[in-house]
Parts: sequence; structure tokens; C-alpha cells
Amino acid sequence: CGIVGYVGSRDATEVVINGLQRLEYRGYDSAGIAIYDPTIGLQLRRSVGKLHNLQQRLAAEPTRGQIGIGHTRWATHGGVTEINAHPHRDASGTIVVIQNGIVENYLQLKGRLIELGYQFESQTDTEVIAKLVGLYYHQHRDLVTAVRQTLQELRGGNAIVAFCIHEPDTLVAARLGNAGGVVIGLGDNEQFIASDIPAILDYTRNLIFLEDRDVAVVRRHEVTITHLDGTPVERAIHAIPWDP
Ligand code: GLU
Repeated sequence: CGIVGYVGSRDATEVVINGLQRLEYRGYDSAGIAIYDPTIGLQLRRSVGKLHNLQQRLAAEPTRGQIGIGHTRWATHGGVTEINAHPHRDASGTIVVIQNGIVENYLQLKGRLIELGYQFESQTDTEVIAKLVGLYYHQHRDLVTAVRQTLQELRGGNAIVAFCIHEPDTLVAARLGNAGGVVIGLGDNEQFIASDIPAILDYTRNLIFLEDRDVAVVRRHEVTITHLDGTPVERAIHAIPWDP
């Protein structure tokens, strides 16, 4: 339902939680974040109910890092439980994924993965994406390639963001169909990702909107957008006035 991502030199937890707060108006039933720091590792926190619950969890078990993703979930596949809240992990626990939308063919994909020996911890369609990205990452050792290959197998409309600890300065964001928007906020040696503009307006007013089948590689110093097939695309930067 709500997506926020950050890479830069701020406290990623703060940026992501603040962004998710700005998206609370959309409604949600659970929330979660994944923050990465090279010395601490990947830190995942999820909780059912209001963002306040996640914040209380974070007060007890803080996360630290300058890159991360967060999600507020509106459950479509799988009940409202902490295990079903995003981010979801691949089999190796090194990749995390958040999703807005629905994977229509998730049962078929899940069946195939189970035949390959994959085990699932949640009932969501989103975990299927995480496991597939992990499968292809271990073949190609390249996150954007793994995301592209995964998206080619999904039916439905989705917005996703993926992170892998082996590419610790990179977020990959993508949009498939028209179920969910993705906006990239450009900063000064920092970048923001969100499902909706209000999440990042506190930080930047230079925005790029992904179109259907766009895949963005978002790094501290650069944003590169390609088509799902890998061909480069140019997307306009929209400047929103600070005092409209
Ligand atoms: N279909 C996904 C789920 O149930 C994502 C729902 C959403 O857009 O928040 O986990």
C-alpha cells in the first residue's frame, strides 16, 4: 500500500518512518522496515497495526543505517500477521523486497519454487517475488538483472523495491502495470523512493515518475532507468515548487 526507500547519508530509519507516516492516510493493517548498515548487517522490523506499534518496536530494538526500505501493508493475500508484513526475504536472507499490488499468478510460481525445494514462511504473494529475486540473483550476481527476470514472470500490477546486502549502495525500484505508482525523489548525494509524492516532499522537490515496465537503479550518486528489457529510457524530472 505504502512504499518508501532511502539511500544517502541521513538516518534511513528516520526518513523511512517519516515517509510512511505521510502515507498513513491511504490506510494499512501492518508495517515494516529493513535497514542496512555494513557493520551491523540487515535489520528487519515488522509489526501488525498502526505505525506507532512499529515505532515502539524500534524504540526497544533500534535500527541503524543509511539505506533502507519501508512498507505499510494492505493485505490482499495472506492474513494480517507479523510474518505476512513486508519486507519479505529471499531464501538466503540477503535480499529484501516490498510490494504494492497483487501477483495474480503467485500460486503457480510458489508451486514451482516449492518443487525446487523452497520453503515459505508467509502466506503472501510478495514472498514469491523475494524468493524469485533470490533465485535469479544467485545465477546472475546482479540485483537489477534478477529483478528484471522476476518481473517478466509476474502477472498483475505491482510496484516493488528490492535491496541486496551484496550491493549495499543500491535500491532497485520497478513498476509493472498500473496498480501502483513509483516516484523517485532526487537529492544531493541522496535519493528517495515512494509510492506517493507526500512521502518524500519534506526532502526533495525534484521527482521522476516511473512508467509501466520501468526499472530504476537508485544509488546515492545516481539514478539509472531502463525498460524491463534492459534498454535505457529517459524520464523527465518534474520540479515541484517549494511554495506552491
Ligand atoms: N499483495 C501484497 C500483500 O498482500 C501487497 C498488498 C499491498 O499493496 O499493501 O502482501
